[in-house]
Amino acid sequence: AQRIVVKVGTSTLTHLNGKLNLQAIDQLCYSLSGLVNEGKEVVLVSSGAIGVGLGQLGMSERPSTIPEQQALAAVGQTQLMTVYQQRFSVYGQRIGQILLTHDVMDYPTSRQNVLNTFETLLKLKIIPIVNENDTVAVDELDHHTKFGDNDQLSALVAISIDADLLIMLSDINGFYDKNPRKFDDAKLLYTINEINDETFDKAGGRGTKLGTGGMTTKLKAAKRMLNANKTMILANGENPSVIFKILNGEQLGTLFI
Ligand code: ADP
Repeated sequence: AQRIVVKVGTSTLTHLNGKLNLQAIDQLCYSLSGLVNEGKEVVLVSSGAIGVGLGQLGMSERPSTIPEQQALAAVGQTQLMTVYQQRFSVYGQRIGQILLTHDVMDYPTSRQNVLNTFETLLKLKIIPIVNENDTVAVDELDHHTKFGDNDQLSALVAISIDADLLIMLSDINGFYDKNPRKFDDAKLLYTINEINDETFDKAGGRGTKLGTGGMTTKLKAAKRMLNANKTMILANGENPSVIFKILNGEQLGTLFI
């Protein structure tokens, strides 16, 4: 069976006001269920827990302390999974939650346990929904427990389970030769075979202060995939049924190969 990892960002899952974009989530669930029905093995890497937690607790911006952010993630993750559970069940699709931290993937025993869980879920036609375990992973204090962003986590998962393809859905049509939000003449790059410092410059540089998000972490993920001889497609997730077009071979977004 073809094994596919799909990563969705907060921008796909939520409206600008922070509320869940239920229409997009429904389309996503519909599309992924359809793939499973076609006999494909599908893993979803989903962000959005902290954003959902904010909405749930009626807060307008991220709190500053780590314990508050982690509490928020705990609230948001439950709500997010509840919504997924509801929408996927409409399409008769079962799901299972896998929360990961870096050390889990570093230690051979826990890594093997996680991989066994993936294999078992996929064999049962269940879609594993993966997120970083934000309630235990800490960024500033201990770099070793945090992936930092779901972009790189999704590449790590795709490589670890030997997926055939990583589809990364974002709020932009693909990777451009410069930031299209700043430059009107930015051109979409259809195929990327190599990622070097010049490539990172197009995304506004490697490891910007903002840390997570933006094009930089997507390029880092793509670099991991290329190093592992794997393929990634970056496309606009505005309409998640775009996944069908991608798998039908339509030239969409940026192909890292
Ligand atoms: P998501 O929430 O889907 O993970 P992000 O907002 O983190 O997405 O990253 C996508 C954003 O990266 C784009 O909307 C754009 O503003 C920015 N960006 C910077 N450089 C580029 C580039 N060269 N090509 C495309 N997008 C870029």
